[in-house]
Amino acid sequence: MADPITIYGTPVVQGVAYAPALWVRRPELPPESAPALPEDVREAEVSRFLDCANAVADSLMNRASKTTGQAADVLIVTSSLATDRAWTKDVSKRIRDGIPAIQAVMKATERFVVMFETAGGVMAERTTDLRDVRDRVIAHLQGVPEPGIPDCDCPFVLLADDLSPADTASLDTNVCVAIVTQLGGPTSHTSIISRQLAIPCIVAARQVDQIASEVPVLVDGGTGAITTGIDEAVALEKVRADAARLELIRSWTGPAQTSDGVHVQLLANVQDGPSATSAHESGFAEGVGLMRTELAFLDHPTEPSVEEQARSYSQALLAWSGSKVVVRTLDAGSDKPVAYATLRDEPNPALGVRGIRINGIHPNVLANQLDAIAVAAMTAPDTDVWVMAPMIATAAEARWFAGLINERNDVFGVSLKAGVMVEVPATAILIDQIMEYVDFVSIGTNDLTQYTMAADRLSANLAEYSDPWQPAPLALIRKVVKAGLRLGKPVGVCGEAAADPLLACVLVGMGVTSLSMASSAISGVGAQLGQVSLEQCRAAADALVGAFDGGDGRYRARQALGIE
Ligand code: PEP
Ligand code: MG
Repeated sequence: MADPITIYGTPVVQGVAYAPALWVRRPELPPESAPALPEDVREAEVSRFLDCANAVADSLMNRASKTTGQAADVLIVTSSLATDRAWTKDVSKRIRDGIPAIQAVMKATERFVVMFETAGGVMAERTTDLRDVRDRVIAHLQGVPEPGIPDCDCPFVLLADDLSPADTASLDTNVCVAIVTQLGGPTSHTSIISRQLAIPCIVAARQVDQIASEVPVLVDGGTGAITTGIDEAVALEKVRADAARLELIRSWTGPAQTSDGVHVQLLANVQDGPSATSAHESGFAEGVGLMRTELAFLDHPTEPSVEEQARSYSQALLAWSGSKVVVRTLDAGSDKPVAYATLRDEPNPALGVRGIRINGIHPNVLANQLDAIAVAAMTAPDTDVWVMAPMIATAAEARWFAGLINERNDVFGVSLKAGVMVEVPATAILIDQIMEYVDFVSIGTNDLTQYTMAADRLSANLAEYSDPWQPAPLALIRKVVKAGLRLGKPVGVCGEAAADPLLACVLVGMGVTSLSMASSAISGVGAQLGQVSLEQCRAAADALVGAFDGGDGRYRARQALGIE
């Protein structure tokens, strides 16, 4: 047998799978131009187009009704694109001008794709959805089946350049054992849904097109390796070994500790009262490490009153009576636009007026929110309430924010702790000075990586850069943690890095005091920590110094932790 060949991508969901590859490719588009339509058939062509768009919307809604959670949400959003008024109006107008429906759909979609890409952020991510809707409507217009994953009764590893959300969301995990895409970032739909499906997933595997359908492949979602030409018995042994890891996760009950009994505080990321309550009910978290308050207000056209906000925060704080809850003030802007706080039409919103900077244009929004948090804290006297500001970039901002918290403590008779997020490299660089003014800091690895690597965290083409395993953001994290240890201030991590079981070990080895993540990720991280000693975690953290890139970092950490 020839030597095995391995290619690498960015690992998103851990797990090992072995099965023949199955390629899913987007259909070829019809020619861009076609003879003009005679005037007397144009209205009928508009009706035919609208019927097809409605049929696509209905079929996506039908799939949504058969699934749950984020998969259902994604299908509902995609379905609404098929009947979006601006898009259908644009297509209809082109048809009335004489362009046949198929070409009108293609032209209108390209216009919207450019608009979405110019808007950036989450809107840019929607372009895959829009192109998917285009392909489905065109299939209906041509009278052929909608494009998608072919029916297959035997297990397969799905290979694609980029999967449409609708295809990912309706995958049958009885037969699809892993997903590998050539594009896609850690926050793409493919990644979000494969986390929910809990099947191994690797994105940004640039060379995956070297692998043909039907070739057996071993996918390791922990290392990002995709191997062909491997002996079947060896591959199946690796799959069996991974089943033992899954069993450890299933039986893990917490609280988290390393194999030598060192406690690690694992906390939940939530967004409002209901999600805080369900995180508490799931029973694994020891508190809340990040309450993203802006997510509760994304669809509010105007600022909610202090009373309304206080009610929402109070519900979350009461759910965690006796524990710690870290509330983050509004991080509106960029990928989380909030109508009443965000500036429109910024040329570069990720570098614009977001997070704490909103205070410059809406000074009352932060003041009102802090009043609401203080009022909520009064209703939950047994909850340890920590409050932190996003996007802090200077020592002056940190000192000013801590001052605002202390004012609330005096006025409302509460004991809020004041902290800042470390998301901007400037904050990490000046961390010693900044820490003097605050009680704690929490590292937002999503933005810290984005800004350190100058790579849009939502870009499907930059997954290698948006990787928290990159040596540069890890060097900044190490610096911040060292400052915390020196000054005796807690340093938590609340970005996606905390939810990566391997990286969590590295962060613990560096000395972080808590890790906060989606509640669904806690047992995976806890089970992994239970397999390694603090000494191994420290060795893994040390081994990363001098790594060349994210992949090299992962390799070094696995070696140091004794993970194959
Ligand atoms: C982060 O940037 O890592 C973070 C936790 O904040 P968000 O993802 O909400 O921007
Ligand atoms: Mg952030």
